[in-house]
Amino acid sequence: MTEPADFGFKQVSPDEKTRRVRAVFESVAPRYDIMNDLMSLGMHRLWKRHAVALLNIRPGQQILDLAGGTGDLTHLIHAQLRPSMQATAGRIILSDINPAMLTLGRDRLLNEGLVEGIDYVQANAETLPFPAQSFDRICIAFGLRNVTDKAAALHSAYTALRYGGCYLILEFSRLLLTSLEPFYDAYSFKWLPWLGERIAGDADSYRYLAESIRKHPDQAALTGMLHAAGFARVECSNLAGGIVAIHRAYKL
Ligand code: SAM
Repeated sequence: MTEPADFGFKQVSPDEKTRRVRAVFESVAPRYDIMNDLMSLGMHRLWKRHAVALLNIRPGQQILDLAGGTGDLTHLIHAQLRPSMQATAGRIILSDINPAMLTLGRDRLLNEGLVEGIDYVQANAETLPFPAQSFDRICIAFGLRNVTDKAAALHSAYTALRYGGCYLILEFSRLLLTSLEPFYDAYSFKWLPWLGERIAGDADSYRYLAESIRKHPDQAALTGMLHAAGFARVECSNLAGGIVAIHRAYKL
């Protein structure tokens, strides 16, 4: 029998989770960027910059931005991958399962004048449609939490990565300062749905966001899952007291 999956605090079938996650991002897509800024007071931009710095990108590499949504990481990575007109070999693929998010990402990057060196692929992170050993770097920012079968996604990324390549996950994680939990709970379960209702006209999707963070594997559990998928030299660093964590791992 198929194991149920968590959709926030609810248990649903895996297909139902995938369907509901798609509905969440279809609903929030038009207001996604402004909500990110408001929810994190702009902090998500710093976290993403830090994550991209840890990727240690070199011109000419092949990069995959998984669950890339509106393309924040792709934008930052592109600047390092192709710092000049001469550095033409590097490519990044912005990939997402959701056409609404991917279209927004593509339109935004094109409007910002980024054309060369970026491809767009609609794909499920669990079953990547790329040949083995295609990429030097694979990253996934605030995406893994939404994936139904996380172990399958880690396995698929491991296969698509080249030997010596690096995989990076930027994701909400477990708050380390337990004394701050009451404030974090109030922020998550009251403020986020309230803000979601006012800005995106959708409280439920932001309630799901808060719940999905609580159900996501914590720092140690995700480290274990990366080892189980075959990754080596797995490192975890906490940001904002563990509200967010970066896992970096290698295929050796
Ligand atoms: N990476 C972007 C960022 O940091 O702003 C977007 C993150 S957004 C919170 C999560 C994204 O994960 C959504 O665009 C959603 O469509 C995508 N997603 C959810 N499940 C996925 C899956 N199984 N495979 C690929 N993308 C998925």
